[in-house]
Amino acid sequence: MNNRKGILIVVSGFSGAGKGTLLKSLVSKYKNYQLSISATTRSPRDGEEDGREYFFVAKEKFEEMISKGELMEHAQYVGNYYGTPKKYVEEQMNQGKDVILEIEIQGALQIKKNYPDALLVFVMPPSILELKNRLIHRGSETMDLIESRMDRAKEEAKGIEEYDYLIVNEELDSSVEELHYVIEGAHHITSRNIEWIRKMREQLNEEVKGE
Ligand code: 5GP
Repeated sequence: MNNRKGILIVVSGFSGAGKGTLLKSLVSKYKNYQLSISATTRSPRDGEEDGREYFFVAKEKFEEMISKGELMEHAQYVGNYYGTPKKYVEEQMNQGKDVILEIEIQGALQIKKNYPDALLVFVMPPSILELKNRLIHRGSETMDLIESRMDRAKEEAKGIEEYDYLIVNEELDSSVEELHYVIEGAHHITSRNIEWIRKMREQLNEEVKGE
């Protein structure tokens, strides 16, 4: 199946489930994936750079992007706005890349509604105790913020069945492979290959007619 079209992939998971590390590892191992870069009104954490992890923007700028229709989806998360700029994602998909949006559940549901072909994957930690430990050891947040993220996880857990696939992120390398196979599998779904099937039928008709 040549000239295959890029897939829009949504990856969500509780904060601390390890999806950031999982996705970085996936894109460094397999070259057809592109991570989308979101816009957010939250402040950069140590080591984060504008235009690499996020576009860090003021609230007014974010609201302007919403009103101009520049975002594919947007949501509020623990007091800040987050959203996906449309232009970059569309450009990458047109080049055949599989584009990954690492976004929370409200945004994921907007994508599911507006882009029904998108593939939705939810990443879980092996246990809730492990989740809390990971958040604490990340060291970048206060205890209050960790509690807010745990509360938010409880809310998000209600929507997991909306996703197509579940990855339990216990061991990084295996999770990378599982995610890659899930996406590869999606490329082989017949409804994503209608054009290719049509061409094969045409060729078959030609061959059979000529005999
Ligand atoms: P963090 O502040 O830890 O970087 O991200 C907080 C949450 O916002 C995570 O669940 C992350 O997946 C989500 N997020 C990041 N970018 C976007 C976005 O563009 N849209 C939405 N809806 N959520 C996002």
